[in-house]
Amino acid sequence: MDDRKCPECNSDELIEGLLSASMGLTFIPDDEKGFIKKSSLVSALACRKCGAVFGLRLKNKPDKLTD
Ligand SMILES: [Zn+2]
Repeated sequence: MDDRKCPECNSDELIEGLLSASMGLTFIPDDEKGFIKKSSLVSALACRKCGAVFGLRLKNKPDKLTD
């Protein structure tokens, strides 16, 4: 499954992690409805070779965010 490569230097030495602003960087949809705020942490890949950060991805199921 690991055909993921750095878009900058094409290295496959990638590190997966969460973007964090102390409590974790979160994504909140613009069109959220209801009283309960739905949000998702954002994960990303970083290249061990050149330090590029890419592949931002919601950790929670994106289709659940705007239910
Ligand atoms: Zn790279």
